[in-house]
Amino acid sequence: MKYNQEIYEKAEQELLQRRTIANNTQKEHEKEIECSFPYIYELFKKNKNSVANAFAFLGANSKQERKQGLNNWKQQRANTEKEMRQELVKRGYPANYLDVNYTCPKCEDNGYKESYMCDCLKELLNLYLSQEINQKSSIKLRDFEDFNLKYYSDEEDSYKLGVSIKEHMQEVFKQCKTYAEDMATKGTSKSLVFCGETGLGKTFLSACIAKRVLESGKTVIFNSCENIMGEIETENFSSNSDKQYVESVINCDLLIIDDLGVEFKSPFSQSALYNIINSRINKEKPTIISTNYAITKIQKNYGDRLASRLQGEYKWLRFVGEDIRSKKKKK
Ligand SMILES: [Zn+2]
Repeated sequence: MKYNQEIYEKAEQELLQRRTIANNTQKEHEKEIECSFPYIYELFKKNKNSVANAFAFLGANSKQERKQGLNNWKQQRANTEKEMRQELVKRGYPANYLDVNYTCPKCEDNGYKESYMCDCLKELLNLYLSQEINQKSSIKLRDFEDFNLKYYSDEEDSYKLGVSIKEHMQEVFKQCKTYAEDMATKGTSKSLVFCGETGLGKTFLSACIAKRVLESGKTVIFNSCENIMGEIETENFSSNSDKQYVESVINCDLLIIDDLGVEFKSPFSQSALYNIINSRINKEKPTIISTNYAITKIQKNYGDRLASRLQGEYKWLRFVGEDIRSKKKKK
C-alpha cells in the first residue's frame, strides 16, 4: 500500500519519540540504581564494559581458542546478568529495570529490521491513514454510556420477539458492547448486519463500536455507504490515483458501512461493494453493515452473490422499536 509523505513523517516522528522515551527512562533508572544500590550498578557496568572484551578473542591463535574464549565470555556475561536481575527483583524492582524497554523489541522502535519494514511501523502507517480517512466521515463517534434504553418500549409490539422491545434491544446493546471489547482486545470478531427501520440506534451503536476499537489502536474506517462508494468512484475514475482509499477500506481492521441502500447504485458501485465485502471475508477481516433493507430487498438491489455472502457469513442483529428521533421530538 502507498502512503503519502505526511503519513510517513508522522510515523517516523512517533518512532523517534518512542526511542527517546525508552532511552531516557533507562538513563533515569541507571542513575537511580547507581545512587541507591551501587553493587547492582557495578554488575550492570561490568557487562556494559565487557562488550569491548569480545574483540580480544578474535586475535587468538587458533580457531579452537577463539571459540573457547568467546564461549567463556558469553557465559560470564550471562552469569553477571542473571545475578543483576536477581538482585533487582530482591529489591522490589522488575528484572528488566536497567534494560532499554522499547515499545517494539523486535526493531527497537526503528521501524525496520534489517531491510524489512517492521509490523509496528505498518500499524502506525495504517492508523494514521485511517485517521485521515475518518476525518471526512459523516458519522460522529459515540460512547456506549450515552445509549439510552428508555426510548424503547416495554411492550412486545408486533415483532413477535417473545420478549419486550426494550429487553430485545438491551440484548442487542450487550452484544455490541461485547463485540467492541472483543475487537479491541483480541482483534477478531464476526461480521455483523444491523438491520431495521431508520432511527432505531443502528448508526449510534456502530459509532460506539468504532470509538472503542479506535481507542485500542486498531484501524477502523467508518462512513456512510454513500460516501464510501463516492470516494471509490472518484478514485477509480481519476487518472493518477494509486487506489489508496479502496485498499484501506479492504485492509483496515474493522470496516463500518452505514446505511447500505440509500447510495446511488450503478453497476460499478455494485461490483465495487461486492469486491470489498468478499475480499474482507477472504482476509477474515470483520465488517459491520447497517441497513434498512431486508434480505429480499438486498437480493433484489445488489444481486444473489452479495445477498448470499451476507446471509452466510454475517451475523444479523435486528433493531426494533419506534423511531427514536421522533420520540425525542415529542418530549
Ligand atoms: Zn517494530
